This record gives sequence, structure tokens and C-alpha cells, in this order.
Amino acid sequence: MKILVIEDEKRVATIITKALEANDSGYRVTVSNNGVAGLQQATTGTYDLIILDRGLPKMDGLTVLRKLRESGNSIPVLMLTAKSETDDIVAGLDTGADDYLKKPFEIAELQARVRALIRRSGQDLGAIIGYADLKVDPIIHKAWRADTELTLSATEYRMIAYFVRNAETVVTRQDIVDNCWNEPLEKFSNIVDVYINYLRKKVDGRPFVKKLIHTVRNQGYILKEG
Ligand code: CA
Repeated sequence: MKILVIEDEKRVATIITKALEANDSGYRVTVSNNGVAGLQQATTGTYDLIILDRGLPKMDGLTVLRKLRESGNSIPVLMLTAKSETDDIVAGLDTGADDYLKKPFEIAELQARVRALIRRSGQDLGAIIGYADLKVDPIIHKAWRADTELTLSATEYRMIAYFVRNAETVVTRQDIVDNCWNEPLEKFSNIVDVYINYLRKKVDGRPFVKKLIHTVRNQGYILKEG
């Protein structure tokens, strides 16, 4: 497993490298210390995971991530952020980060997040799945409705994939958090509703006529026809 760490603080980069390469983990770490070099490395090398600092010289982490996703690269990204505000976290996830970790972090937590991300990206491999006129490709992380590609953030993609896998079944907000987010969100639980609204605009908004995402009062949501 090859991991690219884009982090300008030498001390932090060293801690991460040691933590991930310890005990014959099978991980090999490459470090880049600014955004421009990191993006270059990410697009030319083959990595299984990128650990990306938010604040970087030459090009900030969010821009690196945006450029990476715009180029169609869907490699899992764990974002490191010194800030802990909701807006900042949402911005990172919206831009296409798969998970984030607030600095300072515990080594054990970093190791657990890395394992989870790599495991999840492996699980994602599989055939195209679908429901009604929705199609989801778990390999390239793209979704279509009636053959129109939907422009989705990483979180929105995970949500629509989750809905399709659980079509015609009521899913609670907690189910959505457990399966589409990487940590509990009690503190800002209305984020799920905010994301459902984003997703509805894209999946059920014009030009599509038939609504697929329905609210089930006091329970949650369901993906179904009619
Ligand atoms: Ca930094």
C-alpha cells in the first residue's frame, strides 16, 4: 500500500510516516511538503491513499483536492485540518475529501482512519448498481439518472450509493451518518438534512419529473418510485 502525505510541517510528516510504516504494516509513505509538488506527485504516481494537510504553502489543501477531483481522480483522501469549525469540515467533505482528522490527533486514531479508508475503498470495487433510472458506478464513484451524469460531492455520492443499495427500505438519519460519514455527527445533526436537500436538487430536481427520494415522517428517508 502506497500512501502520499502532503504536509509542510516536517515534525508532523515524520510522526505520520513513523506511525504508518511501523510494525511491518505494509504501508510505504512518500512525503511532499507543498501543495504544488503534492498535486504533481498525486497525479503522476499511483497511491492507495492521500493524507492531505489543509494549510499548505504554494497551493492550499482544498485547491489541491479540487484539482485532483476535477481531473477525475477518485483516490481516497484523508484531510488534516487545524481548524475544527463545521464550515471548514463541510468545505473539505464537499470538495471531495473522504474523511478528515483534526490536529492535534492521536496516532492510534490516524492509524484507524487510514485502515478504514483503505478497507472501504476496497469494498467499493464492484459492478454498477441501479434502481429505477438511477445508476451508480462504485469503481469510478459516479452516478447517473436517465443517462445524465449527476455532479456529486464525495458525500453526496456515498449517500446516493447507500440509497440505491437500500432501495425501497426506510433509512434513518443515523443510518445515513453511520454509512456515509466517518464519525458521529450529533453536534451538527442537521447536516444530514442539508445534504438530503443538496441530493434532492440533483437527483429529483429538473429535468427529472418522478421523485425518488421521499421523506418518511418521524423515521427518515426512502428511495422508491412513486
Ligand atoms: Ca500546514
